[in-house]
Amino acid sequence: MNAARADHAKPLPALTGLAGEFYRWCAQGELRFQRCEDCGRHRHVPRELCAHCASSKWVWARSSGRGMVFSWTDVVRPLHPAFAEDAPYAPVIVELDEGVRMLSRVVDCAAGELAIGMAVELVLTQVSDQVWLPYFRRSKD
Ligand SMILES: [Zn+2]
Repeated sequence: MNAARADHAKPLPALTGLAGEFYRWCAQGELRFQRCEDCGRHRHVPRELCAHCASSKWVWARSSGRGMVFSWTDVVRPLHPAFAEDAPYAPVIVELDEGVRMLSRVVDCAAGELAIGMAVELVLTQVSDQVWLPYFRRSKD
């Protein structure tokens, strides 16, 4: 489930607040999303209130790490210079089995091979001493 540290000279997420908690779970080898204790829905990105029922009661619930490609785009000319050497690349929206969608990458798949509905699974990738990013690869099942 975990990949070796990548050479990552790119902007990193701030490890503060609820987003910091999200990335600390990733660094521990677990993808977790907030799950509302009132309506049971999962959510991402992390936030204080449930967008469905406005409850402030929630827990960090472990994700299966399994999902599918919901959408993607081909980036030919990155807007940030740190991504210039990666181009062309394809940021992907993954829909997890828990129903949340997140921006990520499918690391073992060229942009021309992506397909909507393609099954993917989590591969946590260490990019700094403290940060592991939740990327995905084609599901082996
Ligand atoms: Zn709710």
